[in-house]
Amino acid sequence: MGEVYPWQVTLWQQLAGRRQHAHAYLLHGPVGIGKRALAERFMASLLCLKPNGLEACGTCKACHLLAAGTHPDNFVLEPEEADKPIKVDQVRELVNFVVQTAQLGGRKVVLVEPTEAMNINASNALLKSLEEPAGDTVLLLISHQSSRLLPTVRSRCVQQACPLPSTEQSLAWLTQALPESSEAARAELLRLAAGSPLAAVKMHEQGVPAQRAQVIEGVKKLLKQQIGPSQLAESWNAISLQLLFDWFCDWAQLMLRYQLTTDEQGLGADDMRKVVQYLAEKTPQRKVLQIQDWLLAQRQKVMGKANLNRVLLLEALLVQWASLPGPG
Ligand SMILES: [Zn+2]
Repeated sequence: MGEVYPWQVTLWQQLAGRRQHAHAYLLHGPVGIGKRALAERFMASLLCLKPNGLEACGTCKACHLLAAGTHPDNFVLEPEEADKPIKVDQVRELVNFVVQTAQLGGRKVVLVEPTEAMNINASNALLKSLEEPAGDTVLLLISHQSSRLLPTVRSRCVQQACPLPSTEQSLAWLTQALPESSEAARAELLRLAAGSPLAAVKMHEQGVPAQRAQVIEGVKKLLKQQIGPSQLAESWNAISLQLLFDWFCDWAQLMLRYQLTTDEQGLGADDMRKVVQYLAEKTPQRKVLQIQDWLLAQRQKVMGKANLNRVLLLEALLVQWASLPGPG
């Protein structure tokens, strides 16, 4: 069974406490808040032969089989490799599973994550199972970006929004999860993770705060012409492209906001404040808008896992960034 997070108490009761279960649920919300854990807990409860209230008992045959990953009435559909699409052949296997009779005589439960990893063909194959429910099958679809799903997929599910926990809840949980870190470091991690506590822990494990410091140091050197764009791009080899584009998009947005409001409170995180302010004051607004458009478009490609030439893309970014201050 998945871990139980304190911010999911109400969510759990809404979901598991329904009198009658829907044929398909769509659990949607930001990355890093425990949707998978919630879905696994729900799956265990739906498959358990002797549930204890809303919870799976953990001791019956179904619970043992599920824990061992050999429950015959359970199907998990996810990409074969991380960040790759779910293939249409995988969905066909799922469709076959859904029409079979449950072997343990109870429910069958399917978990799909992330649902947006299905292309149009795969989604259309899945629709068949969503449209023609077979027996007592429950489909749990998890999505981090439900706006990318086919409307026909969304409309056939009971949608369960999984919101971000409050900052207080997240910080309280992070205190337990990262007892070695300082309070300031935990707050910084949560901010970097856009408020997702599990993503914050992952970023801590991946050394993201140090990477960000490295990037900011590099940007300062670039603006002082102490390093060239290509050399700097090379030195960021170990840093995820998605993170880099998240940060630069954020900075461009902050620049624009400062130009419009000259509100120093709105300059964002301390680590980049001065640089953002300097750039906002020295750069014509037209150029900020231009680079922002460009950044947003590239970020879409990065998020869509397009096949990109990493070094060339970063060089293009840094060449434009270096030429921000001044007319032109
Ligand atoms: Zn059980």
